[in-house]
Amino acid sequence: MIGAIEPVHQEANRSNSGGGLWDYISPSRLNTWMSCPLKFRLRYIDGIRSPTTPALFLGKQVHRGLEIYYRHRMLGITLEPNDVGGRIVDGWDAAVADEEMKFATGAEEVALEKQAVDLVAAYLAQVPADEPPPLAVEATMEAPLVDPVTGENLGIPLLGIVDLIAPTDNGPVIVDFKTSSRSSPPFEISHEIQLTAYSYMFRKLTGQREAGLQIRSLIKTKKPRIEQHEYAARSDQHLARFFSVIREYVDALDTGRFNYRPSWSGCAMCDHRDGALPKLGWLIRRKSPPVHAEPTNGLALAGVKVSRVIRGRALLSGGLRAFFLALTCRLTGDRRQAALFTGTLRKCPIVSTARDVANLASR
Ligand code: SF4
Repeated sequence: MIGAIEPVHQEANRSNSGGGLWDYISPSRLNTWMSCPLKFRLRYIDGIRSPTTPALFLGKQVHRGLEIYYRHRMLGITLEPNDVGGRIVDGWDAAVADEEMKFATGAEEVALEKQAVDLVAAYLAQVPADEPPPLAVEATMEAPLVDPVTGENLGIPLLGIVDLIAPTDNGPVIVDFKTSSRSSPPFEISHEIQLTAYSYMFRKLTGQREAGLQIRSLIKTKKPRIEQHEYAARSDQHLARFFSVIREYVDALDTGRFNYRPSWSGCAMCDHRDGALPKLGWLIRRKSPPVHAEPTNGLALAGVKVSRVIRGRALLSGGLRAFFLALTCRLTGDRRQAALFTGTLRKCPIVSTARDVANLASR
């Protein structure tokens, strides 16, 4: 039995009550900071909260259903999928109110509710009948951060909520549930921070070593699918890398430097994208972080639908990219987008400076 782990939504409670930056470090804070320090600053320092998206809301309701199921399993009760689905539906309106969810239409909400129920039913359908009761469910873990290499206590705790700790013949396995729109290869590196954080806290609190870690993904395909990826117990190298990231994170908090870090995938998913790019002057002077409400500069393009070759919404930040995209759109016959990108290219200060120089040279 894992007694030191408290089944309380402590991280959520703390962040709702404005848990300060120096109160604790969490895997989600670390991951946000690593993906873009400016995004981190906007969320955790400036307090700009993004509205809950339907995908995030769906994920929370699926987690709620799985939590209900496994909490009953801890008590020796096995709920039928219909029971779990009924409880998701029963708690739906309260969850909508709590999250201040706004759906585009009533039909969208109904479809999302059905999707949550179907995903959990698909998961429960593949749970082995003899699956032993879990050791812990939605367990909040908090542990002091003591560098395993130097022995230094960093003076700030690590806090996280683990979805499930499951017993196996080899020992406890740490499980994280995810909802996802498509299946993905088991790229361990993309989950490294979260898995190592869970492992670290688990070991500190229980004195045991985990037998392994799992990510169980509920895939939102038309017919829901379940995938399970297994990862080995964390090594000394994992922990050393984890602490090197934490030290850089703490340095950033100390210095207050939160540079923007645009990336194709990060910006495409970011709520601060529209009108997001700082002025070029800031990029050069770096005197102070930008405010995302500032107008975009000539290099920026946000929320542009690109041709079928380049799917999704993109934020583009350079004349070179605009050139590349204009060329791609022209090649794929998307003349309207090509004209748009060409227009951006003309406004690009670097390109126009080069043009001026060329004009001067030809006189
Ligand atoms: S739009 Fe991109 S650069 Fe701006 S905060 Fe979001 S991720 Fe960072």
